[in-house]
Amino acid sequence: MAQYDYDLFTIGAGSGGVRASRVAASHGAKVAIAEEHRVGGTCVIRGCVPKKLLVYGAQFAEDLKDARCFGWDVPDECNFDWQRLRDNVMKEVDRINSVYRETLTNHGAEIIDERAELVGPNEVKLASGRTVSAKHILIATGATPHVPDCPGHELGITSNEAFHLDAVPKRILIAGAGYIANEFAGIFHEFGAKVTLINRTDVILRQYDHQIRDRLLQISMMKGIDFRFHAEFRGIEKTENGCLNVSMTNHEDIEVDCVLFATGRVPNTGGLGLEAAGVEYDEKGAVRVDEWSKTNVPSIYAVGDVTNRMQLTPVAIREGQAFADTLFGDNPHQVDYENVPSAVFSHPPMAGVGMTESEAKETLGSVKIYQSDFRAMKNVLANRNERGLYKMICDGENGKIVGLHMIGPEAPEILQAAAIAVKAGLTKQAFDDTVALHPSMAEELVLMK
Ligand code: NDP
Repeated sequence: MAQYDYDLFTIGAGSGGVRASRVAASHGAKVAIAEEHRVGGTCVIRGCVPKKLLVYGAQFAEDLKDARCFGWDVPDECNFDWQRLRDNVMKEVDRINSVYRETLTNHGAEIIDERAELVGPNEVKLASGRTVSAKHILIATGATPHVPDCPGHELGITSNEAFHLDAVPKRILIAGAGYIANEFAGIFHEFGAKVTLINRTDVILRQYDHQIRDRLLQISMMKGIDFRFHAEFRGIEKTENGCLNVSMTNHEDIEVDCVLFATGRVPNTGGLGLEAAGVEYDEKGAVRVDEWSKTNVPSIYAVGDVTNRMQLTPVAIREGQAFADTLFGDNPHQVDYENVPSAVFSHPPMAGVGMTESEAKETLGSVKIYQSDFRAMKNVLANRNERGLYKMICDGENGKIVGLHMIGPEAPEILQAAAIAVKAGLTKQAFDDTVALHPSMAEELVLMK
């Protein structure tokens, strides 16, 4: 008789957990995966996927206005039906959720639609009370929104709820100035909401190059998004007329219809039984792992946002793949975290890979910066006064590109291709040697001064 019920028991069916389970099962392991909400996790159910679809929906607001300059008769007042978009987005989420379930099942992984908690190095207890054993356990429970502990915080929502609103709020206050704050500021602004973004410091999107994020701030303000900096949340109160009164430091109170907290995400380890199994975690609750995603307990591993390494879907997927190949596929490999590209789907979007200018100046002996500050052809004809900015950071010693950062239409699409060149260690000369593809925005990459 087998010593354990399963070779692998995965807790959490998000991007990392699903990839690890599917691959482990395809390598022949007996796998079960437990999920308390819906298979797909944050990215598919309440993150990247529905967000990107809303971004597409929001872009139409600008495209419809611009269409007139391209000869199309578009009425001044175009009606936007939020509920239709929301429901279509949720249908697509349902479709991907089914695909994920099918993929797992087709590979022989058993899906258990229950919450699971650790009770020992090889044991997991399910919400139904059943206890199962596994040779290896993978923690892939992701992260959950952090909500500041201020009076009335329960009157606000997080990105989890933003996808399910009954209507676009007339006035929305967004707390935080990171990815989620800037993406939803763009979305709700394009849908006609009055957006105010407040942050405790005066820096938006801290991880990105300062010139690129300054450009986003400038364009966002020009569009009509209000920013309040050095504003710490004091509290939210419901007013007699059913609105929300928000108080903060250094600024007047503001009355809005909705408050969205986008103040970071914390590892989802509450009540997971880490202590019972003896798994170590850091002060933020993130599971501590080594470069093989192994915890201090030899039978327990963790991948994705729950480890707080790099909170990005493709990284969690790679961690899940490397874990499964190493343990069950006789193909040990680790994730390479250098030059991971990322993007913010703001309006306009920004994207980057490698070191920012300040990181390069702190790290390298000499640094050369090249840039192109341009107005996309389409924006010129549309009288849209929005300039794109591309920036290349090179090692002054050998010309190697160490960072590439951009803001402008389709920046994430363009950067994904250019990131290959950065990852491959190409130099500025290689870009100079490449003939421009005209007319395109991407040609600015090979024309930087
Ligand atoms: P971010 O880490 O991007 O930004 C958090 C923001 O909240 C910052 O402006 C920060 O301010 C502020 N903040 C942090 N803690 C507090 C606090 N205790 N009180 C008040 N303000 C606070 O977090 P998000 O929530 O936007 O996103 C979470 C993660 O999800 C991201 O790190 C990202 O990895 C991932 N994500 C990725 C996306 C993508 O790839 N396009 C899209 C959405 C999310 P300050 O910096 O001034 O300290």
